[in-house]
Amino acid sequence: MGNYKHILLAVDFFEQGDVVTNKAQALATQNQAKLSIVHVVDSLPVVDSSYGTDMPFNMDLTAELMAQAKEKMAEIAKKLNVPSEQSWLETGSPSSEIVRVAEENKVDLIVIGSHGRHGLALLLGSTANSVLHHATCDVLAVRLRDD
Ligand code: AMP
Repeated sequence: MGNYKHILLAVDFFEQGDVVTNKAQALATQNQAKLSIVHVVDSLPVVDSSYGTDMPFNMDLTAELMAQAKEKMAEIAKKLNVPSEQSWLETGSPSSEIVRVAEENKVDLIVIGSHGRHGLALLLGSTANSVLHHATCDVLAVRLRDD
C-alpha cells in the first residue's frame, strides 16, 4: 500500500471525536502526509410556511453556529498543527461538503467516525454512510462505541 499524501479529518465536535482525531493524526505522522480538517455547519431548512416568515431568525442562527464552529475548529487546528489554509469550515450537507472538499484538494484518505451525535452503537451513521458511498478516495470509518 502506497503512502497517503493528504488526509482529511471530518470533525463534528462530538466528545468521542478525540478517538477519530487521534487516529487521523497518527496516520498523518506514519504516512508523512499533509493533514487537513473539515467541519460542516448543517444548512438549516429554508423557512417555509410552517415556521412562519421570520427569515432573519434562521440566518442569525446559522451565523451563531458558524461563530461557535469557527472557535472549535481553531482549537482543533492548533492541537493538530493544521495551518488555517488546510482548515475548512463549510455550510451545507455534511457528506456532500466533505466529499467536495476532499476532491477539490486532492485528498487521498478521508477519516471519519463510524457515527457521531446521532448514531447508534452498532450502526453506521448517515454522514459516514454517505461519505463512504460518494467519496472518490479511500475512507477510514473509525469505529466508535457507546460503551
Ligand atoms: P454521523 O454519520 O453523522 O453519525 O457521523 C459520523 C462521522 O461523520 C462523525 O464522527 C464525523 O467524523 C463526521 N461528521 C458528521 N457530521 C459532520 C459535520 N457536520 N462536519 C464534519 N464531519 C461530520
